[in-house]
Amino acid sequence: MEKGFYITTAIAYINSPPHIGFAYEVIGADIMARFQKMRGKNVFFLTGSDEHSFNVYKKAQEAGLTPHEYCDKMVERYKRTWELLGINYDRFIRTSSEEHKKVVYKLMDKLLQTNFVYRGKYSGWYCISCEGFYREKELKNGLCPIHSKKPEWVEEENYFFALSRFEDFLKKHIKDHPEFIQPEERKNEVLGILNSGLQDISISRRGKNWGIPFPGKAEEIVYVWVDALINYISAPDWERVS
Ligand SMILES: [Zn+2]
Repeated sequence: MEKGFYITTAIAYINSPPHIGFAYEVIGADIMARFQKMRGKNVFFLTGSDEHSFNVYKKAQEAGLTPHEYCDKMVERYKRTWELLGINYDRFIRTSSEEHKKVVYKLMDKLLQTNFVYRGKYSGWYCISCEGFYREKELKNGLCPIHSKKPEWVEEENYFFALSRFEDFLKKHIKDHPEFIQPEERKNEVLGILNSGLQDISISRRGKNWGIPFPGKAEEIVYVWVDALINYISAPDWERVS
């Protein structure tokens, strides 16, 4: 049987309304999806919204809404914009949907049963706008390289995923399967990251107000970047993975 063609945009970070950058990406994906359909492929075209960020929580509070109410309103704006542009996606995934949450919870629960997850202490420069940590050498004059804002020094105990243990496996896989990442320049970009060394990543955050609860740790949620990333699996295939 011929394999289907799966195309996805990055899911939108909905703490601000849709802008031309999102439109550019979604139109590009739409063109590719239509082209592959014309070639007779079974196409699945995904887009959606990344909702469990602290910035969304903050925006909702400023607007006097619950995060859910805020997201509902923003999602409508996004969907309306894509409709006006004639975007013909197959699914709009929301990371606050029950289906997605179920898959993320289950995956975290499975991970916990492996020896790839451990408790550790994270300390680093945290940029609230990025919702991410930076190493000292990654800052520009002590400021976030993207937002030019001063990050906070944060220390927290949370769960870590042993990403560093996959470094050799990933290098070998890319070498043995040259078609795995295309075009060549992107492959080289990924190899460059792998060659500079992978670090373990923290996958949970303290706080339970807005996010997906971490299995067995009521006071922690799944780190938003991990939660969001899983949409690319949960959306096309949630019945099989949930
Ligand atoms: Zn930043």
